[in-house]
Amino acid sequence: MPDEESVAVMWFRRDLRTHELPALAEAARASRILPCFVFDDRLLANGRFVSPRRTAFMLGCLDALRSDLRDLGADLAFRRGIPEQVIPELASECGASSVHWTEDLSPFARLRDRRVGSALAEMEVTAVPHPGAYITDRPQEIHTRQGRPYTVFSPFNRAWQETERRPAEERPESLSLAEDIEPGELPSLADLGMEPGRAGIGSFEPGEGAARSAARKFLNDGLSEYEDRRNLPSGGSSRLSPWIRWGCLSPLELETKLGRRTGEGPRSFRSELAWRDFYASVIANYPEVARHEYQERYRGTLQWQQDEELFEAWRNGQTGYPLVDAGMRQLLGEGWMHNRVRMVVASFLTKDLHLDWRLGERHFMEQLIDGDVASNNGGWQWVASTGTDPAPYFQRMFNPMTQQEKFDPEGEYVRRWIPELRGVPDDRLVRPWKMSAGEQASSGCEIGKDYPEPIVDHSEERLFAIERYRAAAEADPRDGD
Ligand SMILES: Cc1cc2nc3c(=O)[nH]c(=O)nc-3n(C[C@H](O)[C@H](O)[C@H](O)COP(=O)(O)OP(=O)(O)OC[C@H]3O[C@@H](n4cnc5c(N)ncnc54)[C@H](O)[C@@H]3O)c2cc1C
Repeated sequence: MPDEESVAVMWFRRDLRTHELPALAEAARASRILPCFVFDDRLLANGRFVSPRRTAFMLGCLDALRSDLRDLGADLAFRRGIPEQVIPELASECGASSVHWTEDLSPFARLRDRRVGSALAEMEVTAVPHPGAYITDRPQEIHTRQGRPYTVFSPFNRAWQETERRPAEERPESLSLAEDIEPGELPSLADLGMEPGRAGIGSFEPGEGAARSAARKFLNDGLSEYEDRRNLPSGGSSRLSPWIRWGCLSPLELETKLGRRTGEGPRSFRSELAWRDFYASVIANYPEVARHEYQERYRGTLQWQQDEELFEAWRNGQTGYPLVDAGMRQLLGEGWMHNRVRMVVASFLTKDLHLDWRLGERHFMEQLIDGDVASNNGGWQWVASTGTDPAPYFQRMFNPMTQQEKFDPEGEYVRRWIPELRGVPDDRLVRPWKMSAGEQASSGCEIGKDYPEPIVDHSEERLFAIERYRAAAEADPRDGD
């Protein structure tokens, strides 16, 4: 039964959908609802990780959400400012007795939400955080038998699989909008103080409708081959991450749809989704990882080089190693990169160029449509061997040539993103610098002119990286306890 006379605010943040959203389902039980979104400059133009591209994708998702909410009989109000002020103001304008949102685990979000909650409490408005961003309701509370957060993925995954799931929520059939509220205009990127630039969002269409059809297509056509093909940069993974990041898809609904499907595909896909809950739990329990190495022995002890030229070559996909360059160009081209290649380019930055993982983390956050503080930081620290889920540093050094041989044997991916290598024969594509002058002429690719010489020698840098990490571990002030 709807609670008569009651008004609820539904504060959307990174949960831009109407299906399987506990906060919306609960807010919809009030007699009237005010769905809203607040543009917070602390996260946009003045944020730590400014990204016009990701913001453009978000604006597209908000546009789609507004029209979905209108179809349901409501609307989406846009405001600009600090949620700590705007949300209480909106609650008071519409006479709301409760404000609902989906819990977010980043350090910034947790502090902000605590402050919004206190401001609402002073007005005697109930603040209600809901699950919905992750598959498990509270990944940060999945603990070992000793009551500690997991810091290794496999045991986390086992406990995560056993954690009870809530039943999926229904989409509200209709909504009725709070009265006398000015919805406001959807701002443009320029309104938000960002240069639109030339960066596009590739084939990723923003919004819940596009997300649901991409998910349907993957579950029908891609899932059964997922385990065999997910490591191939030319295709095989779901490419659902931008929509999952923005909450256009409910990760729980996605998991529910795997249902009783057995086999390696569904098993492996579920376990990849578990990584997302894992890294959310890591950042919630160890918020200091957002800026520092998780492993204390590497804080301040690892010597990073500073070399703007090497960094530029990496960023622009001009290192001379085709798989690295294809990945970096894919990132610049469509704001997304395949997971295998993310690992290869991250390893190249930190262990071949010896540049600080935080530089790579920032560049990824600027470019990735799926850029997510927890998963990105987790991925970077995993590859840099400074994070959770540790393995000895010398085991986590990716050889860009053998990785290319294994995962892009026909060169489909490399040729797609590096046009100047299209004419290079298969047996030269991994090491194009080995082409003879005649081969360079006949393939239309002169090394050093059309495509760069390798900027470093992988086997030498590998040895140097091992030395650097060993020295750092030996410098650990806690040794000798
Ligand atoms: C250095 C580095 C940085 C990364 N930065 C991000 C990031 O900012 N945002 C992001 O969503 N993922 C990040 N990842 C994880 C992973 O690369 C992407 O989630 C994946 O490539 C998305 O492609 P997909 O949707 O086809 O994945 P699929 O293989 O189809 O996996 C399905 C979903 O599971 C989740 N997932 C899979 N692998 C991981 C993982 N290792 N960590 C967390 N979630 C995972 C994603 O939501 C993904 O969409 C990063 C990995 C590395 C190595």
